Amino acid sequence: MKTKKFCLTLLIAAAFWLTPLATPAKPLVWQGMVSFNFDDGYRNVYDNALPVFQKYGVVASFFPVVQYILDQESYAVTWQQLAECQQDGWEIGSHTMTHPDLTTLTDAQIDYELGQSQKILEQHGVNAKTLVFPYSQYNARVLDYTTRYYENSRADVGSNGFDCDRYHIVSQEVTNTTTPEQAIAWINEAVKNKKWLVLMMHQVVTGPPADYEYNVTDLEKIVAYVANNNIPAVTMQQALAIRDDSLGPNLLKNPNLDKLDKSGWAKDWTRNNAAQVTVTPPAVTRVFSSGNRLRIVGSSQQNVASTATIKLPGSGKKQGYFFSFFAEVDVGSPNAGAEIWLDEFDKKGNYIGGQWLGGLYVDTFGMPGFLYQPSSPQVGEVIIDIYSLAGCNVTFSGSNFYFGFIKPSKNCAPILNLLLQH
Ligand SMILES: [Zn+2]
Repeated sequence: MKTKKFCLTLLIAAAFWLTPLATPAKPLVWQGMVSFNFDDGYRNVYDNALPVFQKYGVVASFFPVVQYILDQESYAVTWQQLAECQQDGWEIGSHTMTHPDLTTLTDAQIDYELGQSQKILEQHGVNAKTLVFPYSQYNARVLDYTTRYYENSRADVGSNGFDCDRYHIVSQEVTNTTTPEQAIAWINEAVKNKKWLVLMMHQVVTGPPADYEYNVTDLEKIVAYVANNNIPAVTMQQALAIRDDSLGPNLLKNPNLDKLDKSGWAKDWTRNNAAQVTVTPPAVTRVFSSGNRLRIVGSSQQNVASTATIKLPGSGKKQGYFFSFFAEVDVGSPNAGAEIWLDEFDKKGNYIGGQWLGGLYVDTFGMPGFLYQPSSPQVGEVIIDIYSLAGCNVTFSGSNFYFGFIKPSKNCAPILNLLLQH
């Protein structure tokens, strides 16, 4: 998932962090983190917020509506100002061309809003990897197009755990009635629970804030708190890079289903039903779904695909694991879904038990994640089963499978504790 270019971006961003006030004391591993997001691309964010972030050596993410810049609207940021934000380590993403409710558009219109905005940003030196859905409105069709162009997308309300889906990043809006103390309380809660909190704002003003505005003095109190307490303030891209860096090597055999036997089935994988469990070539290109797809079509019986036996390198230790893949799930009837089950064995291959890791019950395009903690120190091997429920109209497609351990480190220990509480 990582590229050299990406690492370079991180290095550059890290260099900007190394200011006297906000030097991250620890190596970057998953922990409580904060992102500051500014939606719509208002010029007053450049005028008022950027100097505050510069003062404390903190970065933010900026999501302009591209047509507002092209039209040189007086309230919109300019290309030059965006470039200055980027030079300061800010992430610039896309908030579409014209800020429509994407769910109301035709396929061609969605494609234009997402693809054209990325293209124009690129023409101005911005490699937009994150999309923010206008009005937080999205559905499977919108995600279908999003996953063709972007690495991440933001929607809905909440805070993000280690197992968050990078196409369903959630945020907390800081409104004109949110006090700095309230925002700081949210940050403290995220730090305590090892969550990644995304604070979302629109305009930043010097006077009393109206709707969709925030006062710059109050903003400074929040930014200063983050900097002075060494709480990692990261861009969206950085947060997900930190998660990637927190993971060990892929332990799955044939994770991309690119090795096939004579019947066209994936080597090292097993299935209970050759009619409904198949490998299919890709239909479209997506950022995180290259190559073949595992396809499971629901029928009267349960249809299941299983991985090869995975030997756990952390056997006997308190070790957490993470399972994820690119998923396209079409749920054709109520209460239908695709589920993930994990079988546990001891080192000699004797069956110990199983764990249900989770399920996908709504139309999905994205990268769901599942956490796993062995039920006892005796677990030495596991097999993961992906299955459709019996009698359900559901079509599951999965690709680019990953299963690996969450790197053991002091900072990751609380994640394991959270797992153990389940
Ligand atoms: Zn917006």
